[in-house]
Amino acid sequence: MQPENFRRSGHAAVDWIAEYQEHIRDYPVLPAMQPGELIDALPTSAPDAGESMDVILADFQRLILPAVTHWNHPGFLAYFANSSTEPGIVAELLAAALNVNGMIWRSSPAVTELEAVTMGWLRQWLGLPPEFFGIIYDTASISSFHAIVAAREAAAPEARRTGDYSRLTMYCSELAHSSIEKSAVAAGIGQDNIRKIGVDGQFRMKVDELAAAVQRDRANGMRPFCVIATAGTTTMASVDPVGEISRVAAAEGLWLHVDGAYGGATMMLPSMRALFEGVEKADSFVVNPHKWMMTPVDLSAFYTRRPDALRRAFSLTPEYLRGSDESREVNLMDYSVALGRRFRALKLWFVMRHHGREGMAAMLERHMRDAAQFAEWVRQDERFELCAPVLFSLVCFRLKGPDAASERLLQEINRSGKAFLSHGVIDGRMVIRMAIGNYRTTLEDVRAVWKLTREIVDRTAESAD
Ligand SMILES: *Cc1c(COP(=O)(O)O)cnc(C)c1O
Repeated sequence: MQPENFRRSGHAAVDWIAEYQEHIRDYPVLPAMQPGELIDALPTSAPDAGESMDVILADFQRLILPAVTHWNHPGFLAYFANSSTEPGIVAELLAAALNVNGMIWRSSPAVTELEAVTMGWLRQWLGLPPEFFGIIYDTASISSFHAIVAAREAAAPEARRTGDYSRLTMYCSELAHSSIEKSAVAAGIGQDNIRKIGVDGQFRMKVDELAAAVQRDRANGMRPFCVIATAGTTTMASVDPVGEISRVAAAEGLWLHVDGAYGGATMMLPSMRALFEGVEKADSFVVNPHKWMMTPVDLSAFYTRRPDALRRAFSLTPEYLRGSDESREVNLMDYSVALGRRFRALKLWFVMRHHGREGMAAMLERHMRDAAQFAEWVRQDERFELCAPVLFSLVCFRLKGPDAASERLLQEINRSGKAFLSHGVIDGRMVIRMAIGNYRTTLEDVRAVWKLTREIVDRTAESAD
């Protein structure tokens, strides 16, 4: 491509992004399409002759865009909503242009060193102790996988040679994210050796059940090695009692991993610190800046106070061949199953600098305030019920009565194109989840969703009369 052509298509793309951001409310949140439609609309094989950027960009708008779910839409309130602000978008463009691979320090020092700097900055924002070593992975699922393998290495160093993990047992609550079980399976622990501990009325792990399960396993000759606490569960954003769990972990010699993929962001708010009491005692911790910290997908921040165990788990370099520990030359490939490493730190650096701690904290507080307001509206309308405490920016609610009414309501909301909410199951009943996480979402957007919700319910009641 000639430089002039690159300038033209690059400028056109940035202009398009600016327009898109400005008019995001005009797009339907969910695409109105059937599975397979985009595949059918595209050629079955790639072109033989190269095509111009004008043609490709036009097809992006004509074919790809109508098949996009707009996470940027302020009415996107499903799963855990996320968003990316402009600094992150610019940084991703620059990272693509540099196209470096940070496998080792020498393969691009900026990747390794900016990752160390941004992980240090973020650690300070989160109030984690200075001894925590930080590394970036793509997702929380992969971060937790690395935690579980490091825990396994710490508890059973011989097993990396023998492959015998047969007696290792792991603990999490029944509400832990699915990636925890998947990671344990991939790490060779086996589903039979994962203990899913029950939860209390506030959906928090029952610590006495945890302690009893560990005792029982020990008595049966098993080797308890790891417990996962969740700070912000996926269904209803409950928080396990991390402090109490850390005391069991310390007494029993278990690795404590804390999954704060979503909720962990709020550790930067002094008002929220008490909820996370004990996290400073964890062996490892994960939070996703790509979830609730305005950073483009993907970027997961992983911290551990035992980087030596992580390195033993993922390095094939024998200790005697390693450089001196004095050296500042860190090779991140030794802390990761992947060799290649994208320059993800660049976008986090842009985002943290542009918004600052105050800007980030203000967004989190605003989202939590708006969620609390939505919960108040739900509480005041006797047709609805609130299904879990609102600790963060997630509200779980339903229509009183059988699930079918809430299912129909959710379908109608999502069909409107104005909002996208998701669902979950609490105590065997279907609940609607309204999760605020997009920096564009305002109290007015949330009010509009509540109005839409009530209108649908009013209309349904009328047509039933
Ligand atoms: C979202 C979430 C995950 C998964 O995050 P990915 O980055 O998509 O892997 C894991 N745990 C919790 C508690 C989550 O909320």
